[in-house]
Amino acid sequence: MASKSLKGKIGVTTENIFPVIKEFLYSDHEIFIRELVANAVDATQKLKTLASNGDFKGELGDLKVQVELDEKSKTLKIIDNGIGMTSDEVDKYINQIAFSSAGEFLEKYKDQMASIIGHFGLGFYSAFMVAKKVTIETLSWQEGAEAVKWVCDGSPEYTMTSCKKDDRGTVITLQLDDDSEEYAAKGRISQLLDKYCKFMPVPVIFGKKTEWKDGKQVDTDEDNVINSISPIWTKTPSELKDEDYLNFYKSLYPMEEDPQFWIHLNVDYPFTLTGVLYFPKIKERMAIDKNKIQLYCNQMFVTDHVDNIVPDFLTLLHGVIDSPDIPLNVSRSYLQSDTNVKKISTYITKKVADRLEEIFKEQRAQFEEKWDNIKLFIEYGMLSDEKFSERAMNFALFKNTDGKYFSFEDYRKCIETEQTDKDGKVIYLYATDTEAQYSKIAAAKALGYDVLLMDCELDSHYVNMLEQKIEKSGFARVDSAPVSDLIVKAEKVKPELSEDDKKAMDELFKSVLPEGNEYMIEAENLGEEAAPVMITQSEFMRRWREMSAMGGGMNFYGSMPEAYEVKVNMENPLVAKIWGDRENTSELLRQVVDLALLGSGLLKGKALADFIARSEKLLK
Ligand code: ADP
Repeated sequence: MASKSLKGKIGVTTENIFPVIKEFLYSDHEIFIRELVANAVDATQKLKTLASNGDFKGELGDLKVQVELDEKSKTLKIIDNGIGMTSDEVDKYINQIAFSSAGEFLEKYKDQMASIIGHFGLGFYSAFMVAKKVTIETLSWQEGAEAVKWVCDGSPEYTMTSCKKDDRGTVITLQLDDDSEEYAAKGRISQLLDKYCKFMPVPVIFGKKTEWKDGKQVDTDEDNVINSISPIWTKTPSELKDEDYLNFYKSLYPMEEDPQFWIHLNVDYPFTLTGVLYFPKIKERMAIDKNKIQLYCNQMFVTDHVDNIVPDFLTLLHGVIDSPDIPLNVSRSYLQSDTNVKKISTYITKKVADRLEEIFKEQRAQFEEKWDNIKLFIEYGMLSDEKFSERAMNFALFKNTDGKYFSFEDYRKCIETEQTDKDGKVIYLYATDTEAQYSKIAAAKALGYDVLLMDCELDSHYVNMLEQKIEKSGFARVDSAPVSDLIVKAEKVKPELSEDDKKAMDELFKSVLPEGNEYMIEAENLGEEAAPVMITQSEFMRRWREMSAMGGGMNFYGSMPEAYEVKVNMENPLVAKIWGDRENTSELLRQVVDLALLGSGLLKGKALADFIARSEKLLK
């Protein structure tokens, strides 16, 4: 066929393909380079396969893909010495692309075009997003093949003629469109090759390496190979040293600090997936970059948006996943329901849990050292993923206010004797701020209790979850009740007050408490030596408030006034005096209540100034 010159129209249904390509793929024009280089790489790989099967017996030569740019004439060439095409093949693969429903399909999925295009046989045609004329010159590996030249100017008409080409392989030449001039710049092409072709499995060459000479950059004789053909995820862990993993990380994220540890993924059944995931060092806890995992398909960069493929909490990780089994030609929402994707997601979660458990078991000291840094991942994972949560119960740590770490199991053993309440519940005490809650922590410790540190953003949710997960447990912040009440060990005999007395007490105390808050006034018998009045915010109310604040917006709990519990210790002599002589002790009442407010950080502004003035007067 190639002997005679051929003129024709590309497939019947492609009439509408060029406008569609140009119009809809606008934002992703740059991917043309990935498509063309990937085709060249494929052609080279195919030749290698033919050679290893013994079908191809000639010289393989130096297998590579070359990208050449002529900035002046605005032409870009992609050159390979792969299998090439016969004229029949050009006709079959290039001319007769059968896009029966292509237009409709493109319309539907225009948002995900970048990932679809290569898997829809549109790869080659993406050249028309940036070129006004595309030329293919190709010579097949097959014996006696004749070279073919195919030229198309972007209209559905093409010409196909025989031509002179001595070396095996394909040259694709793009005459760049005027509105795609940006691709006629070396810097831009370099950047795109780095983004899309960095790990392709055949050397990709873009010009020559340069060196600094006589005050300017000049070309050397050495080819500028832009890719690394066997990145670490294609190797087995036994071939690799820590250094290799660290170097690879640096090459992906030059600006980041070294990662904490990594997980090498490698499965080939029931799906194929390789990759390396890193736990990054977190600088600012809430400012973690998501979308740092890159998705590849056989070493070809696809995207760095892996949401829906890895569970949400793992999008905090960095690294690379490579799988030909992730369907790319589907919508993002469909991804979630895809069985392969589900399996992949489950597998990754399991692998991460395995690795964490392994470090916990085998390198406990290091695990503790890293805990503060990985705690957020783990808590996030436990809160969002039931399976992960089950696993993590075995390796998650508690840190107490003395900076000691415990596994859940060990911690329970430590506190069980002292911190079990009258109902048989083990009460876990915690602080959120060691400085602000210093006196309460000290008081709790004086009673033989231990106090955990829960100062992470997610902790109010986390504590809620743990209460449900850990059997017979309760969590209480050290300042959520008077220390002696945090763990109620025996039923207390409450003072008996008549309804009238209760009302009177309510009025009496509310008259000296700051306005704008809710108070629950409660008469208690806490012993002669305990403080006269104690003001605390209930654990329950505080947690709900914090959680609604995190959830954003003000919901029901968030918009409620602050609520406090006011415990009046009837056994304290001062209280006895006030209660016994209400009419004449208003000064004393105010002083006692202000002291309690001061202890809870609620005495502010004018009230605080008044209190100081009154105290000074007393001292005189
Ligand atoms: P896809 O690569 O997804 O099959 P393309 O439109 O990119 O779709 O290419 C269509 C076909 O054209 C390829 O499958 C291949 O057979 C052939 N082809 C494209 N580029 C080359 C090349 N550089 N060398 C050999 N064959 C090629």
